[in-house]
Amino acid sequence: MSLISSNLEEVNARIAAAAESVGRTREDITLVAVTKTKPCSDIKEAAAAGAAEFGENYVQELVSKYDELGAVGNWHMIGHLQRNKVKYIAPFVSMIQSVDSAALAEEISRRALAAGRRIDILIEAKVSEEDTKTGMNPDEARDLALAANDLPGVAVRGIMGIPPFGADPRPYFERLKKIYDSLPKEMGKYLSMGMTSDYETAIAFGSNMVRVGTAIFGARDYGKQ
Ligand SMILES: *Cc1c(COP(=O)(O)O)cnc(C)c1O
Repeated sequence: MSLISSNLEEVNARIAAAAESVGRTREDITLVAVTKTKPCSDIKEAAAAGAAEFGENYVQELVSKYDELGAVGNWHMIGHLQRNKVKYIAPFVSMIQSVDSAALAEEISRRALAAGRRIDILIEAKVSEEDTKTGMNPDEARDLALAANDLPGVAVRGIMGIPPFGADPRPYFERLKKIYDSLPKEMGKYLSMGMTSDYETAIAFGSNMVRVGTAIFGARDYGKQ
């Protein structure tokens, strides 16, 4: 068994155990395998071992991997997205998880319609600032979700969040769960939180979508990009 497939097996087992500890099952949790900086050969290996959702942070990298691998799985944009780059991913991206402004949601809607599609998005709730003056407060995140969901080219499917690096993630997970719970049921399908260091904790706090890179593919080498 390759390293990637045995890593994936372990992550899946841990997700299942974390889900079961809060009365849910492995099937309730979606795993997004985060492939930034990793070669297409790694992605093919993960797909062969059962991974179906892949997350990338940079538009150029996402486009070039899609060009090479196509529909090996569903592609998620999880990194900061500039409005002028939406057009490059709109024809194929399955979900854009990093929508943090009305202007970005409007551009996604426009480009989705031009491509004859409706794109699933998550609102990235910026709970990483204790100071709500610089972060996005829960009401703002909810208002953005409701406004974006009225756009014809997007469907809001939930909330994404990233606790600040190195901090105890639990209070942030709690706040993200509250925002998710405040959304209308028909929209609030995904709560995307939890990465390699904290996905089991995130599941205990209500996450149903985890974004895991390092635990599957090993440490990233940004020098070789
Ligand atoms: C890189 C990244 C991940 C995966 O991080 P790991 O610690 O490698 O699991 C998840 N979410 C986002 C938004 C990322 O940028």
